[in-house]
Amino acid sequence: TSVVNKIAAGEVIERPASAVKELMENSLDAGATRIDVTIEHGGAELIRIADDGCGIAPEDMALTIASHATSKIGNADDLFHVRTLGFRGEALASISEVSHFLLRSRTHDSDCGNEMLVHGGSVQEAQPCGCPPGTIIEIRNLFYNTPVRKKFLKTTQTEFGHISEAFTRMALAFPHVHFSLKHGTRLVHDLPPCQDLRERIRVFFGEEIADQLIEVESENDQVTLCGYVGNPRFSRSNNRMQYLFLNGRFIKDRALQHALGEAYRGLLLHGRYPISFLRMSMPPEMVDVNVHPTKLEVRFQDSGRIYSQLLGTLRTKFLSSNL
Ligand code: ADP
Ligand code: MG
Repeated sequence: TSVVNKIAAGEVIERPASAVKELMENSLDAGATRIDVTIEHGGAELIRIADDGCGIAPEDMALTIASHATSKIGNADDLFHVRTLGFRGEALASISEVSHFLLRSRTHDSDCGNEMLVHGGSVQEAQPCGCPPGTIIEIRNLFYNTPVRKKFLKTTQTEFGHISEAFTRMALAFPHVHFSLKHGTRLVHDLPPCQDLRERIRVFFGEEIADQLIEVESENDQVTLCGYVGNPRFSRSNNRMQYLFLNGRFIKDRALQHALGEAYRGLLLHGRYPISFLRMSMPPEMVDVNVHPTKLEVRFQDSGRIYSQLLGTLRTKFLSSNL
């Protein structure tokens, strides 16, 4: 394993939760309808993600951990039309550099699976194995060969907290997918597919929060906005209950956060934040997701228009709901 590779790995995989996020994104890109996440010791010992997605053909298994190898975009032009959650081809390359990595996969038209073991970036074996259709990835001893990063890991509880947040974001962004999360022997969540985002919100945040939510919906040209915002009475002292998803990705966007604040102007005391669970979708051409390695920030082609749509939709809703 070269130093350069290990440094690159650190950019994408900061802590166990980053690996969980990347693996779950891959499962969703593979069309999974069910994703089971198993964690041991806050992810430091084990992260296992099992999905029922399309699987990986034996001849493609080695490619998955090659740097910059992605099956999702073919050329630079495709970068402007990203329809998948992943597109850089860096996650598995990075993770397999700094862990004991096991990939088991079977395509739906094959009657046997294959497994590949990678230790610190070198492939140890690839051979047929029994497994259900789909993909199972196991990451053990994350950061075993990058002692500094390992040292910076926080307590099991804190690292699991980050994993749980990554899991929550994913489960809120894809309500129609079945997700489960296990920590050690404890089944933390088992979430069957649901029609309405509100059902997921209820599971994570409780009855009281879910029941007071105000539904919002708008469509302007090709930009759709839907989801829920909280009654001002349920405002918070921080913005941790503000969830914004763009084309299935959890994002942070200061302008849209500002629009949200503006919509509540006069309804909230200073220093209070509204609850929000908003999903936006737009053609991939209208947004650049290739801004930041973690893809947490994006750049809109016409951010002014999106700002107005959010603000306008909420204001209209608030006027009609007598807040
Ligand atoms: P990216 O998602 O940017 O393409 P990754 O390093 O995350 O890069 O994954 C590399 C490749 O491995 C993907 O392009 C995909 O072809 C394959 N792959 C990874 N995870 C899965 C999965 N769960 N199911 C099917 N294919 C997968
Ligand atoms: Mg990926």
